[in-house]
Amino acid sequence: MSLIVQKYGGTSVGSPERIAHVADKVIQARAQGHDVVVVVSAMSGETDRLLKLAREIDPRPSERELDVLLSTGEQVTIALLSIALEKRGCPARSYTGAQVCIRTDSAHTKARIMDIDAARIFQDLKAGRVVVVAGFQGVDEHGNITTLGRGGSDTTAVALAAALKADECQIYTDVDGVYTTDPRIEPKARRLERITFEEMLEMASLGAKVLQIRSVEFAGKYNVPLRVLSSFTEGPGTLITSEEPSMEQALISGVTANRDEAKLTVTGVPDQPGIAHRILGPIAAANIEVDMIVQNVGEHGLTDFTFTVHRNDYDKALDIVKQTAKEMGAREVQGDNRIVKVSIVGVGMRSHAGIASQMFQTLAAEGINIRMISTSEIKISVVVDEKYLELAVRALHNAFKLDQAAQR
Ligand code: ASP
Ligand code: MG
Repeated sequence: MSLIVQKYGGTSVGSPERIAHVADKVIQARAQGHDVVVVVSAMSGETDRLLKLAREIDPRPSERELDVLLSTGEQVTIALLSIALEKRGCPARSYTGAQVCIRTDSAHTKARIMDIDAARIFQDLKAGRVVVVAGFQGVDEHGNITTLGRGGSDTTAVALAAALKADECQIYTDVDGVYTTDPRIEPKARRLERITFEEMLEMASLGAKVLQIRSVEFAGKYNVPLRVLSSFTEGPGTLITSEEPSMEQALISGVTANRDEAKLTVTGVPDQPGIAHRILGPIAAANIEVDMIVQNVGEHGLTDFTFTVHRNDYDKALDIVKQTAKEMGAREVQGDNRIVKVSIVGVGMRSHAGIASQMFQTLAAEGINIRMISTSEIKISVVVDEKYLELAVRALHNAFKLDQAAQR
C-alpha cells in the first residue's frame, strides 16, 4: 500500500462538475490501492474575488484580516470535495490547515510552514478515509490563521507529502506537465518525462509558472518526488526528482522567457570603493529586488553600472536611482522597460563546455543583440529587446534540439 498526496488547483475545482470529476479521480487512485490525501485550492478566481472585496473597503487591508478572508476560499472546496466523495460512497473528511496543525510563522500573507502534526491524518487514513486538506493556509503559534502566498497550495501539498513520508506528491493542474518551453511561443515544445529539482527551480524562477517556487524548494530539500499532471487529460505528466548520476543527461532541459524585466544604467559613476552599495542600497531599502548586475571596467576614473528589476518596480527604481546619481555626481541615468530575459537551463551544462558560445552564436545568427548576460552552474540568461522574445526562444529551442527526446 502506498500513500499519495494529490493536489488539485483552482481550475480543477472550478465548478461543481469539475469537483465531481476530481472525486472520481481520487476514487480511481484508491481503487489502485493507494491511500490518498488531497489538497485543494480555492475555485479559480475566488482568491482574486476576495482580495478585491477587501480592497474595496480598504486599499491596504490588515494582513491578518486578509488571511482570515482569503483562507475561506479553500474551506469551500474541501467541504465540496468531501461531499462529492461521500456521495460516491467514499468515506472522506475535510480539514482546514489549522485543524491538521499546519504550523507556520506569523508572516501574514507569506507565511512559512514550520511543522505539521501528521497524527490526525494517519488516524483517518487508518480508518479508511480520504483526507481532504485546505491548501495555502496554516496557523501560527498564537492561533492566528495565516496564508502561504499566492499559489501556496502547491507548498501545502509538498509539505504534507514530506511530513507523511508519502511515496509521491501529484500536482494536478490545467497543463499536462512541464514543457521544454512555452508551447504558446514554440508549438514544437515537448513535455519532459523527467526533470531535476534544481532545473525545475531555475525554470520556475525564470518564468515557467507551473509550480510555486517554494514548493519546488521544499520538495528538493525533503526529496519528495513531485509529479505535475493534468486533471483533464490522462498521461504520466512530468516527474521532478533528484539527479541520478547513472542517467544520461540532456544538455539542456528547457528555454524560459521572462517579460517582467526592466533595466537601469547609471553612466559616468566615479569609480570608487562602495559605489555598488551606494546605488543598490537605497533600492534594497525600498524593498525592490535586483536580479542581474553588471559593472563595467572603469576608464578615466569613471564607470557604468547596470542592473535589472521587476518591471512593476521600474518607475520606483528609476526615481530612486536618479536621486542617487545626482548625489554621486554621475553623468546620467538610462532606463529601459522593453527588455526581456531569455534563459537556457540544464544540469548537463555542468559537464559540457561550449554551451554558452552555442547560445550566443545562435542569437547572433538571428541578428539579436545581447544586452546583458548572467550565468549560474546550470543556466545561462541573456537580456534582449522585448521584440526578440519569440524569435530568441524558437531559435534556441531549435539549436539545442529540444523538440527531440534526449536519452535521460
Ligand atoms: N487560492 C490561492 C491562490 O489563488 C492558493 C492556490 O491556489 O494555490 O493563490
Ligand atoms: Mg495555483
